[in-house]
Amino acid sequence: MPNVVVLATGGTIASRRGPGGAVVATDDPSALIRDVRPDVSVEAHEVVRTGSYRLDFADFRAIADAAHKHLARPDVDGIVITHGTDTLEETAVLLDLIHSDARPVVLTGAQRAADVPDTDGPRNLSDAIAVAANPSAAHHGVLIAFAGTVLAARGTRKSHTTASAGFTNPAGTVGTVIDGHVDIHATTIRPKALEPVTEDFDTTRVDIVSVYPGGDDVLLRAAVRAGARGVIVVGTGIGNAPRGIAEAIRELSDDGVVVGLATRVAAGPVQAVYGDGGGTDLVAAGAVPLQLPPSQSRMLLALLLSAGHSPHDVRELLIHHT
Ligand code: ASP
Repeated sequence: MPNVVVLATGGTIASRRGPGGAVVATDDPSALIRDVRPDVSVEAHEVVRTGSYRLDFADFRAIADAAHKHLARPDVDGIVITHGTDTLEETAVLLDLIHSDARPVVLTGAQRAADVPDTDGPRNLSDAIAVAANPSAAHHGVLIAFAGTVLAARGTRKSHTTASAGFTNPAGTVGTVIDGHVDIHATTIRPKALEPVTEDFDTTRVDIVSVYPGGDDVLLRAAVRAGARGVIVVGTGIGNAPRGIAEAIRELSDDGVVVGLATRVAAGPVQAVYGDGGGTDLVAAGAVPLQLPPSQSRMLLALLLSAGHSPHDVRELLIHHT
């Protein structure tokens, strides 16, 4: 029988309504895995128990370390991580960036809490375990099993606040799980794995700054004054910005800050196409176009900065790992 380790981190899948009416992460891991899949041997461990909107970089590292620890065991066939949906995409991409093992790591969660009659948690967890136990999921890196679909970590983002199918990847699905039957139908393309997360990651500040018509460079500069070593500028369209941003990026880049350029648009590339302060000028000023959602671009940039590379090398690595 395949052996799957479930690492619990909290989230709606482990949440119930408390006395004050608010929904909070409550269930311990043994409650989560009760009666899930008789055909898979499942053991559960807890890393943290929290809403994922409260996770910090030390928590992300703890989750990555726990996954590594259990992947060091030859008796483990795959890992499942139960996670709040709000920031599931951050943990998924961080783990994927450093994942060099053939065995799958599969994240899942729920949109409806454990104490409501139509909770989607047990089904999602059962599906995720089925994927983690299935040899066809090997060599796909980190995956997300949610609402009957299997998505690659890279590029996936939460795309609906409440719908059961709460995640979308513009690249499409990698597979499906229907009635417990796993069908992996696509390949995943991933860059070479990066080094594991170091302790420096915990304190590496990377901010996300959105730009918009009529905006200025005040927030971008404030982020750096607050200690950001990297900033993800979330541009409009294909990666453009209003007046003043290109000049600020040039000055900050000259000072060793690494600026990544993402987009507020849900799908499509970021490219240097437009002048007049657009992407061509932003890239000429030092911004690196990134092909991951802003939340995931931030994890990539923080991981590279915390690994001790020079700003120049971080820019090069960003290009290869986006
Ligand atoms: N809505 C969230 C969830 O699904 C809350 C969180 O991210 O923890 O778990």
